[in-house]
Amino acid sequence: MSDTPIRAPFRSGAIIDPSLPAPDFPAQEQAFPGLARKMDPRPDHGETSYRGTGRLAGKRALITGGDSGIGAAAAIAFAREGADVAITYLPDEQPDADSIVALIEAEGRKAVSIPGDLRDEGFCKEMVASVASQLGGLDILVNNAGRQQFCERLEDLSTEDFDATMKTNIYAPFWVTRAALPHMGPGGSIIITSSVQAFSGSAHLFDYAQSKAANVAFAQSLAKQLAPRAIRVNAVCPGPYWTALQISGGQPTDKAQEHGASQPLGRPGQPVEIAPIYVLLASDEASYITGEYFGSVGGGGL
Ligand code: NAD
Ligand code: MG
Repeated sequence: MSDTPIRAPFRSGAIIDPSLPAPDFPAQEQAFPGLARKMDPRPDHGETSYRGTGRLAGKRALITGGDSGIGAAAAIAFAREGADVAITYLPDEQPDADSIVALIEAEGRKAVSIPGDLRDEGFCKEMVASVASQLGGLDILVNNAGRQQFCERLEDLSTEDFDATMKTNIYAPFWVTRAALPHMGPGGSIIITSSVQAFSGSAHLFDYAQSKAANVAFAQSLAKQLAPRAIRVNAVCPGPYWTALQISGGQPTDKAQEHGASQPLGRPGQPVEIAPIYVLLASDEASYITGEYFGSVGGGGL
């Protein structure tokens, strides 16, 4: 047997490449929402590896939480597939957002970046209007921004925390999608980032898990409603991915150090490894795929 690791065609690493980051990770904590650039190791969003083949040529995409993690990987991939891309993020995340904007523009694509808090209905509305006007319409909407703050005991979960999770993970996709629909036509694609937590909620993620279950229902219900308008709606359900969400209150520090260890692949996914699902669902090639959910969990399944 050769010692050469098997390599995926679009990136330098591969699932059995021993050089891919695996637990035990260095102990690290950041204040929410955290910055990908300060993580050790830094997540791989596909900056140097994702190769596009024109699958989204001429399309216009909005990705919430596109500054880092899974959203950033989708943003880079979409731009390299030929799309103009708008990203939203929280003001504290400007440095991460700037890097992604530079990568989109390096592809010769238009980049729009809008900081703001998606828990504010007014912001959602104005942000979508601004994106649609700057991009000249909208073909792809990725509801990806999310809040995950662990809490071990229900008695310690405040109403404010519960509300913040629901506002970010359930209300914001509703507000953003409602504002986006008037700008979307036949061939449009809406994607929501759910989670494996929708199907097997962890003890310490009570509020988050049920919000992610709602995200699956979002796709299943809205897909039926929008089928006559030829707009598709799907959910992506990641398992453990190496992102700022996990080290900024998403997990206790010792659990974050072990992120992905319990999966058969023995490591968390890097954001670039889930980008192809978003590209497929966004593209016209997925014309018969709607109302579905797709996992990428590292072997454990949904
Ligand atoms: P991430 O921290 O890199 O991205 C989440 C983004 O959400 C942040 O960058 C931030 O811009 C945005 N956000 C959060 N609260 C916001 C608010 N109030 N207003 C505006 N923006 C806000 O982490 P990620 O893991 O890439 O998360 C992306 C999505 O993936 C989330 O929906 C998350 O629930 C989901 N997910 C992640 C994992 C994982 O293991 N990392 C697993 C399953 C699902
Ligand atoms: Mg971020």
